[in-house]
Formats: sequence, structure tokens, C-alpha cells
Amino acid sequence: LVVVDHVNKHFGELHVLKDITTTIHRGEVVVVIGPSGSGKSTLCRAINRLETIDDGTITIDGKLLPEEGSGLAKLRADVGMVFQSFNLFAHKTILENVTLGPRRVRKISKAEADKHAMELLDRVGIANQASKMPAQLSGGQQQRVAIARSLAMDPKIILLDEPTSALDPEMINEVLDVMVQLAKDGMTMLVVSHEMGFARKAADRVLFMADGEIVEEAEPEQFFTNPQSPRAQDFLSKIL
Ligand code: ATP
Ligand code: MG
Repeated sequence: LVVVDHVNKHFGELHVLKDITTTIHRGEVVVVIGPSGSGKSTLCRAINRLETIDDGTITIDGKLLPEEGSGLAKLRADVGMVFQSFNLFAHKTILENVTLGPRRVRKISKAEADKHAMELLDRVGIANQASKMPAQLSGGQQQRVAIARSLAMDPKIILLDEPTSALDPEMINEVLDVMVQLAKDGMTMLVVSHEMGFARKAADRVLFMADGEIVEEAEPEQFFTNPQSPRAQDFLSKIL
């Protein structure tokens, strides 16, 4: 579904993505882990074209990621993104946060958008909060709204960049549970996360990045119990 082929990216002198090549198949859940600064967020942002790349190609569902224009807007609608800081619209209700994108981009009626949004809010367990404002919700609830909002666009893949790392510990699981359910429902996902429990439960593959490179790619059980590279061994010894 997503083919990343020999992608390179520099920030000035800094080579942040070094010849990255990987494929994310339809229905696959790929968890990206690695030290701070290794390029995990940059890779996510490149796939959503929030970041340009210097060379190489990224293809989504057979279409080359365009540089700009209406083709880009269309392709972006296919790629959902959930950030560490939920980024909800503070002055809109929960329901409006979820319906805004589909109404603008997909040009569907308010009634239809509301109905779909309520189904999604129900799916993430917060339908009863629909008329509240984001600030009235806990962090875990806000992040679940952010997930519902990205689902509202009917994306082909969702990129989640450390979706639980800004949350208080007691709220992490409610968000991970929603992500596990999404994975079970067959959603294609690229998730930057150091949550081992989630990776073990939901990931088809772990992608370990260090210094802008994919150092190791393996099934979660294999990766966590028997990492092959010294860099992965070192990293895991620090986080486990
Ligand atoms: P973290 O675990 O801390 O989120 P990461 O793996 O997501 O790290 P990136 O955010 O992708 O890492 O950053 C990779 C490198 O690129 C870092 O050294 C970072 O400082 C640098 N970098 C990221 N964004 C920019 C930017 N807009 N301009 C310049 N340098 C940047
Ligand atoms: Mg990051």
C-alpha cells in the first residue's frame, strides 16, 4: 500500500533519512521504534508529505506522492495522521472536530457527516462527549477524538506518531486499546511507539531506526526477545 523507495532527506548538514526502503502492505501494522532523533517522525511526515524528501520515491496505493496541488490534497486525505499532541480545534466541539474534514474535503452533508462521526465516536468510546469542547476532556479522551477524526476521512492508512507519549500513565491503555481494535479491524497503520505491549499485541513488524537508517526489521516477538543488531540490543536494554 505504501512503498518507500531509497528515500533520503537532509536538514542542512544533517542526514536524517538515509536511503530508507520499506513497504507497508494493506492491513499491516508496522511499529517504528528507535532513539530520539533517529528520524521516526521525519519518516511519518515524509509519508504524509508534511516534509519534502531529497531523493527517492514514496508511492501510496500505486500513486506517486505528488509535490503539491490538488493531487496532494487528495492523496493526503488517504493518509490519516495522529500526533503526540492531539491538535484538536480548541473552539470546536468534539463532534465538529470529527466532521470538519469530511464536510470540507469530501463535501458530504451535515446530517451524513454527523451520523458517521457519531459512529466513530462510539467506536472509540466517547459518543457521550460529542457536544463538549476539547478542553473539557482528558488527554486520553482527546487522543481518542483525534483518532476518530482521522478515521472520519476514510484513510487507507493511519500514521500515529507517539500517540500515547504525552498522556498520563492511567490514560495510555484506553488509547492503546482503541489502536489494538483498529488493528484487529484490518486498518493499515504505521505507529511510532515504544509501547512494547502494543507492539507485541498488534504489530506485524517492528522497524528499528537509528541515525536515520532502518537498522533492523523483524516480527515483534523476534525483535524484543532476540534483537540482532548491537544498536537494537543497546536500545532495548535501556527501555526495557
Ligand atoms: P523523537 O523520538 O525525539 O521524536 P525522532 O526519531 O522522531 O525523535 P525526528 O523528529 O525525525 O526524530 O528528527 C530527526 C533529526 O532531524 C533530529 O536530529 C532533529 O533534530 C532533526 N530535525 C527534525 N526536524 C527538523 C527541522 N524542521 N529542521 C531541522 N532539523 C530537524
Ligand atoms: Mg519523533
